[in-house]
Amino acid sequence: ADPVGTGLLRDPGRFAREVLEPIRKVVGERGLITDRGAMQPHMVAWRDNWAGRVPAVVLPADTAQMAAVMTICAATRTPVVPQGGNTGLTGGGQPHADDSEIVLSTARMNRIRGMDLDNDTITVDAGVVLQVIQEAAAEAGRLFPLSLGAEGSCQIGGNLSTNAGGLQAIRYGTARGLVLGLEVVLPDGRVWDGLRGLRKDNAGYDLKQLFIGAEGTLGIITGATLRLLPRPEATVTAFLATPSPRHAVAWLRRAKAALGETITTMELMERRCLEIAAKHSPRVQDPLAQAYPWYLLAELSGQGTEEDLAARLLRVLEEGLEAAELLDGTVAASAEQAAALWRIREGTPEGQRLEGASFKHDVSVPVSQVDRFIAEADAALTRRFPGIRSFAFGHLGDGNIHYNPVQAEGEPAAEWAARLPEVNRIVHDIVASLGGSITAEHGIGRLRLEEVGRYKAPVEIEMMARLKQCFDPMNLMNPGKMLPPAALHRMP
Ligand code: FAD
Repeated sequence: ADPVGTGLLRDPGRFAREVLEPIRKVVGERGLITDRGAMQPHMVAWRDNWAGRVPAVVLPADTAQMAAVMTICAATRTPVVPQGGNTGLTGGGQPHADDSEIVLSTARMNRIRGMDLDNDTITVDAGVVLQVIQEAAAEAGRLFPLSLGAEGSCQIGGNLSTNAGGLQAIRYGTARGLVLGLEVVLPDGRVWDGLRGLRKDNAGYDLKQLFIGAEGTLGIITGATLRLLPRPEATVTAFLATPSPRHAVAWLRRAKAALGETITTMELMERRCLEIAAKHSPRVQDPLAQAYPWYLLAELSGQGTEEDLAARLLRVLEEGLEAAELLDGTVAASAEQAAALWRIREGTPEGQRLEGASFKHDVSVPVSQVDRFIAEADAALTRRFPGIRSFAFGHLGDGNIHYNPVQAEGEPAAEWAARLPEVNRIVHDIVASLGGSITAEHGIGRLRLEEVGRYKAPVEIEMMARLKQCFDPMNLMNPGKMLPPAALHRMP
């Protein structure tokens, strides 16, 4: 069954009477936006590359309201697009541009429901902004380690629905590993209260994991019980030069053996990234005396003193220099210096945006294959498109590389845009040949919808489609996202 467009949305009069008015009674005036201008922030994605059009944005204030709204949507076959902070990068949170859905936003569901410090957990509404959770944890002397560039805007419901990775995944894993319990409004409007703060629970399938990374296609996450961790006492940040990704991987292996769990961040970037970050921001400076081809931004954290942590790091740096895995490096001596080193990494995406149009790839390969992936992709693209400039940076410890070719200088925009399918094919075929994934952390959304069918085995797509059909037989939850529509149509 594919109900998109078969519900009341086709008949504005009936839609207003049978959908909008009952919803207004549930959420009140504050919870319903129908003015096009006021809806605009919910229609446009962060990068402006997806723009939707809907008759209404609904903002329930709590789980009961969300469930009541979803019950109305199920009864009237009204498809919905769940939305959190709207910082996603694949169009998953944007509605289509044809008034065929409504947006269900968690922006007003922003309560911290409670903390259990003996159990090291925090329970929150889905709409709480990630940074607010980090700050609440810090105030209680704990750490909530999920951390990403959009943390001031993205919401935990969106983080869980995309299984966000971020800057500390090498140590703490992705969002998936930080969740103990979930509360979900199902596509028929029922609420599943799975907010258990248990570290051990083998009573059947681990259902919460199905909703994590589901990009809003199975249900709406309305609450979560999250793990809190001990707050590290000391942090040390270093910026290191290395001859190549192969050498960087060799040093990472050495560092993991010597420093173990203390490695919290290991970001790889090529010289070009530093150059464009510095070109477009006067606050970004090269901290080393001469230029090198590749860099690592490494951060260590743990208990004890900063002096001890830095001394341990320095020993492994020296070994790396002797083994020619590293060429140079600097260790931040203050919080200001550490912030300056971080600005290089943080300035890279923005610098690249200002440098010209680019195609974004968020791929992962086994860490051992990172070097091969970058070398093969660079060679294949330059052969095919002379002048193309590729920027590789990302989370080396997770094998997650943001590999973004930028248009050749002076190349007309239309010519460049026409190359997207071929560039994607070249990059993703190499990723697949190395046993990798075409999306490591941003998800499929709409951006990778066409490609996912090419890179996943039919049996895998079929299992996904069967799960979708089981939870959402009317295809009301975020239709046209994550699962190629053809996969659902093929279902018996
Ligand atoms: P949205 O964009 O609103 O939604 C994302 C998806 O989740 C959509 O499919 C939506 O339908 C669904 N969804 C949202 N809320 C719910 C809910 N309550 N229930 C069910 N489905 C829901 N991502 C990373 O993984 N790592 C990074 O390092 C990273 N860095 C970023 C840096 C910047 C500057 C920006 C702009 C983005 C970055 N991202 C990163 C991407 C983005 O921030 C993450 O995907 C984030 O987790 C999305 O959260 P959100 O609240 O903005 O979700």
